[in-house]
Amino acid sequence: MKLNVTEALSHPGQEYVFSGLQAIADQEIGGQTVRIDDCQVSGVYMADEDGNISVKGQLETIAHAPCANCLADAQAKVGNDFDETFLRGGDPEDDEIFAYDGHEVDLDKLVMSYAVMALPIRFLCREDCPGFEYRDPDVAPAEPGIQYPFAGLRQLLDNNEEV
Ligand SMILES: [Zn+2]
Repeated sequence: MKLNVTEALSHPGQEYVFSGLQAIADQEIGGQTVRIDDCQVSGVYMADEDGNISVKGQLETIAHAPCANCLADAQAKVGNDFDETFLRGGDPEDDEIFAYDGHEVDLDKLVMSYAVMALPIRFLCREDCPGFEYRDPDVAPAEPGIQYPFAGLRQLLDNNEEV
């Protein structure tokens, strides 16, 4: 997503409103693939006297990943606020800063880093997902290859209760 800042550059101090959709590539996090829907982005931008562009706003989207407990599809609402300055003529390869050149400010890197920053550490299919540990260990897993790390423990507890 790109902002054409020609107008803003000739009117420093004046705020301009923007909004749009930004696609975000799948992320590999902790061995899981997190898929992120197109991000709804909106905010304002403004040039200063030196031609640096401040961009302020918020993003909102839905992220999808396997549930941390049971591996079912899970999703989470993701939202974040941002307030950054793009330095005119700065090095676009420098990860420490946001920079732009010419008359276009590219928001890809900003939106992606703020979306990824806001991802939950664990995805859950529902808040009280019991996961594997409360499933009846005698029932065969629906899908082969799925492991039930707590099934044995559960069986021990059940046996104790019967004593
Ligand atoms: Zn679950």
